[in-house]
Amino acid sequence: MGLTISPADWLDRLARLGGRDGVHLASLARREQELVFASAALFLPAGESLTEREANECLKRFLSSAGSMLATDHVELRRWLADAAFIRRTDRGTDYRRGELPEWLRDAASTLDQACLSEAVATARDERAQKQAARKQAWLAHAAAGIDVVEETQDADEVLMKLAIDQAHNAWALGEVPVGAVVVKDGRVIATGFNQPVGNSDPTAHAEVQAMREAAELLGNYRLADCELYVTLEPCAMCAGAMQHARIARLVYGAADSKTGACGSVIDLFAEPRLNHHTQVRAGVLAGECGELLSKFFAERRELKQAGALPADSDP
Ligand SMILES: [Zn+2]
Repeated sequence: MGLTISPADWLDRLARLGGRDGVHLASLARREQELVFASAALFLPAGESLTEREANECLKRFLSSAGSMLATDHVELRRWLADAAFIRRTDRGTDYRRGELPEWLRDAASTLDQACLSEAVATARDERAQKQAARKQAWLAHAAAGIDVVEETQDADEVLMKLAIDQAHNAWALGEVPVGAVVVKDGRVIATGFNQPVGNSDPTAHAEVQAMREAAELLGNYRLADCELYVTLEPCAMCAGAMQHARIARLVYGAADSKTGACGSVIDLFAEPRLNHHTQVRAGVLAGECGELLSKFFAERRELKQAGALPADSDP
C-alpha cells in the first residue's frame, strides 16, 4: 500500500484514536484498523510460540492499555487478528505467534514496543480527561449562575448559546463535527449534548438528540413541553422531527446549514402547520461564532489528511 509510516506517526495516530471511547473495530477505516491490529500484535513477543491462554493474556494487556479505547474483548480481537493474519496459528492449531505485519507498518514496528504504545495512549487519555474536567468546571460555574448571569444589556439567548458552543468543543475534542446543544427549562440548563455519531457508531447521535434524551430521562417524560432547545447549528430533518415529537416549546439555533438544515435552509419543517403546532424558532443567535467553529474544524481535518496524519477516507 505504498508509503511507510514513521514510529512517531504511528504513536500519534494511535493516540488520536486513544482519545476516543467505545471504538468499534468494524467502524475503523482500513489503515486505522491495520494500525490497531499491528499495535495489538506487538503485545505478542516476537518469534515466540504461545498457548491460547498466553496469547489471551497478551491481548488482555493490550486492551487494558494501548487498546483501551476499543469496544471489544480479547476473544473477538483474537479472531479479528487471526482472520487478518496479524497473528497466526501453528499447524496443530493450538499455538499462536505474531504474524508478519503489512509492509507500510513493518519498519516502524521494529522500533516500537508495548511500553511506548501504552504510554502514547495513556497520555492522550489523560489530556482528554483534563480538558473535559476543565470544561465541566467552566460549565458548572455558568450553569450554577444560570440565567442570573444575564445582565440587562445581554441577550439571554446568547448566554445560553455560549453553553451550547462549549458542548460543541466537547465534540471537537473527540474528533466529531463540533455541534453542541443544551435543553433549558425555567431558565435553567437541565441537559446537554454534543454530536458523536462516529464514536458512538450511532447515526442518530446528533447534539440535539443527545440533549433531548438526557432531558427526557431526567424529567421522566418523553414530552419536553416547557423546554427550550439551544443548538449551534440549524437542525436536520431528524432532529426537527424529534423536537416536534418532544413538543419542544422553543428552538434557538446558531449557524444556518445549507446542506441539511430543516428550519428554512433546505426545507422548513417548523413552518409546516400540519406538522408543527408547538415550536417557536429563533435563528442566527451567535451564528458567526457557531459557524466559525465548524469551518475551523473542517480546515484542521483537511490539513491533517493532507499531512497524512489522518486517513484520507476517515470520517468526518
Ligand atoms: Zn440532526
